[in-house]
This record gives sequence, C-alpha cells and structure tokens, in this order.
Amino acid sequence: MEAIGVLLTTPVYSYLEEELDSRFKLFRIWNFPQKDEFLKENSDFIRAIVGTPNSSVNREVIDSLPALEIISSFSVGLDHVDLAYCKEKGVRVTNTPDVLTEDVADTAIGLILATLRGICECDRYVRAGLWKKGDFKLTTKFSGKKVGIIGLGRIGTAIAKRAEAFNCPISYYSRSQKPETNYIYFPSVVELASHCDILVVACALTAETRHIINRQVIDALGPKGFLINIGRGPHIDEHELVSALVERRIAGAGLDVFEKEPHVPEELFGLDNVVLLPHVASGTVETRNAMADLVVGNLEAHFSKKPLLTPVV
Ligand code: NAP
Repeated sequence: MEAIGVLLTTPVYSYLEEELDSRFKLFRIWNFPQKDEFLKENSDFIRAIVGTPNSSVNREVIDSLPALEIISSFSVGLDHVDLAYCKEKGVRVTNTPDVLTEDVADTAIGLILATLRGICECDRYVRAGLWKKGDFKLTTKFSGKKVGIIGLGRIGTAIAKRAEAFNCPISYYSRSQKPETNYIYFPSVVELASHCDILVVACALTAETRHIINRQVIDALGPKGFLINIGRGPHIDEHELVSALVERRIAGAGLDVFEKEPHVPEELFGLDNVVLLPHVASGTVETRNAMADLVVGNLEAHFSKKPLLTPVV
C-alpha cells in the first residue's frame, strides 16, 4: 500500500502519523506553503484523507481531490465532514466510535465533580497559600442531583450509567425515545433543562443541534443549574452562556469544547463558577492509540477491498 496517497490536513497524534507513514505515501499539506501548487502536482494521487475535528472536509476540499475514495476520521463526531456531499460523490467515510466512549464519559463525570465541588479552584487555593488564611468555601453536592442528558447515544448512555452510581435520577432528550431504559424522556431541551440540576450535552453536532443551548434553555436551567459540555462547542450559544455565567443566571459550567477552538472567551478566565478543559475528553494514550488503530484499520480494509470496520457513509 506504500504507493497509496493519504492526505493529512493538520498534524495529528504522533503514533497515528507513524502508523500512516509506515503503510502509505503520506502527504502533510502544511509542509507545502503553496497549496494550489501542491494540489496541481499531487491531487491525482491522493485517494484518502485522515480527518480531524479541527479541519473541515467540505465540498471545496472534496472537489479538489478527484481521486478521493475515503475519509477516515480520527474522531467519532463527523460535523467537520460534508457527509451528504460524500454520499453524492461516492466517497466513503469512517469514524472512531465506541473506543472513546468510556474516556469521554469519565471526563463528563470529572467535569461535573470539578465544577460542583470547585476542585480546580481548591487546587489553586492551596497552591496560592490561601489555606493558611482560612478554610475553603462550601460547595455543591453531586450525589443524588438530577442529571439531564442531551443525546442518549453511546457517550450519553455511558454518562447516565456512571451518574446512576452517584444515585442521580436520569432524564434525557434525544431524537428518539429509549423505552429500553428507565430514564425519563422529555420531548424538548427546555423541558429537560427545567427538570434537572445538571444538564449534560452529549449529542452529535448537526444543523439541528447547533446552539441547542440558547438563552431559553439557560433560563430554564436557572440559577441553581449547572451546564456540562463534552459534545462540540457550537452546541452552545457561547455569547449567551458567558453572560449567564457572569450574571450568575446559572450556577456554573464545565466545558471541554468551545465554539472557536482554541479560542476561549477571556471573560471566563476570571470566573470561579466555570471549569475549562482544552478538548481532552478522549485524550488518553490508551484511547488515542485505539482510535489511531481504527483510522488505519479502516484505510487498510478499504484498500484491500474488505468491509470497512466502522463505516458511516
Ligand atoms: P452517538 O452514539 O451517535 O450518539 C449521538 C446522540 O446524538 C444520539 O443520542 C442522537 O439521538 C443524538 N442526536 C443527534 N441528532 C440530534 C438532534 N437533532 N436532537 C437531539 N439529539 C440528537 O455518538 P457518540 O459516540 O455518543 O458521540 C456523541 C458526540 O460526542 C459526537 O458526535 C461528538 O461530537 C462528541 N464527542 C466529543 C468528544 C470530546 O473530545 N469532547 C469526544 C468524542 C465525542 P438518537 O439517539 O435519538 O439517535
């Protein structure tokens, strides 16, 4: 397979780059300052793209690669890929489901605990020598709180299971009801938000779920409610969230993702009611290796004319 051209549009995890390098002819587009020149010379040889959430594979990119057969994404979310256009053009698309579910759900619970119990702030308190001057303020209990989940898919379900172990009643909003669970279904996000203490965003990012957290939802969550986002940044109207946090119209937020990563609104930096993570929910060595193996496995399956491991399109 050494002759098969595979395009990387952004640098990725070193293990994945090494695995790709050892099997395919890997093109790192950032090494070519003249993008048009690069495409003119190489586009006929590039048969695959390895995608990442921070690099859009839109119509323009797809049209610029006439030999493109497959996009193997190093992510489960595919909001960065024009899936409809891929289907139309017969370009296959794969992602990395399941292998990251546990880590992302673990991170969601970690964010809930960090946000409600002020764990990061406690750490800063000790490091700053403030403990000698007095005890830390009281925080908010997690166990037993009502947890509402937007998107009861693989990750949402894994979060629900973990929250159940904290004796939290679970409710959810998804496209479809899940009668196989005994969780309470709400037919709208506003209703879910007004019936829970902690609202967790775990759905896919699509045109319908962009800004699924808006002013109305934030108001329904209310001043005692917490918002956790381990989905994608554009699920939240960030401008509305920032003003709600500044004005204490919600109790707090734990955020792994942001609308314009790696840009994070500076207004959040001084707030004690928010925990900020740099999009690391699946960021363990074990999980990233498993994701990388799936990316490579899908490419190998495709070019050996075997069934794809995790096909989406
Ligand atoms: P999944 O199993 O496909 O679940 C997606 C969920 O989104 C499903 O429950 C689905 O509802 C729901 N959904 C889709 N469109 C919706 C809509 N219009 N309204 C309400 N709910 C909708 O995917 P997953 O593996 O759990 O991953 C979920 C998302 O997590 C990914 O798409 C990705 O963006 C994000 N993620 C983030 C990180 C991170 O590092 N922060 C890591 C991995 C994944 P139904 O059940 O009714 O179909």
